[in-house]
Amino acid sequence: MINIGVLALQGAVREHVLALEAHDVNIIIVKKVDQLDQLDGLVFPGGESTTMRRLINKYGFYQPLKDFAAKGKPIFGTCAGAILMAKELVGQVEPHIAVMDMKVERNAFGRQRESFEATLSVKGIGDDVQGVFIRAPIIQEVGEGVEVLAEFNGEIVAAKEGPFLACSYHPELTDDNRMHQYFVNMVRNCIVPA
Ligand code: GLN
Repeated sequence: MINIGVLALQGAVREHVLALEAHDVNIIIVKKVDQLDQLDGLVFPGGESTTMRRLINKYGFYQPLKDFAAKGKPIFGTCAGAILMAKELVGQVEPHIAVMDMKVERNAFGRQRESFEATLSVKGIGDDVQGVFIRAPIIQEVGEGVEVLAEFNGEIVAAKEGPFLACSYHPELTDDNRMHQYFVNMVRNCIVPA
């Protein structure tokens, strides 16, 4: 069975664990750096990206996460998790783990629309995906190697670059597990048989 970790420093960890439980995978709640070695794929949950980054530094996760990504191991980030993955952040000099060639703007929907739901058409999944947006970022720009998977009002809200998957919304907060299934398939396809 493949091992999928959920980075459990802060944020909606439990919801991702529940969403992954619907699939035939071993779930590892990652609190220590040495757990990364066991993983075939990793989820960065939603939450608060600056807090998450502070804890990443505090618990020595920064370089190990960069190394995990450099090995080409799949990562799935939702909302704050997507912010961690962006190589460029609007209004911020330094990005975080910086694995995807995309420019992300935090809290991009403004006060009036801080939290809302919308039906999305997500490539490879369906045109009836319920997107839960909570102080969500948008993906302003993507590089050439990045595939746009979903847009909302002309803004990119889901994207994939090789083994990396990011979305602005929270699939873990609905009972629709298709996005997690999609990631699990990415992880399975990525494993080179011994
Ligand atoms: N606004 C949060 C941030 O900037 C993300 C919100 C979320 O993950 N729901 O990190």
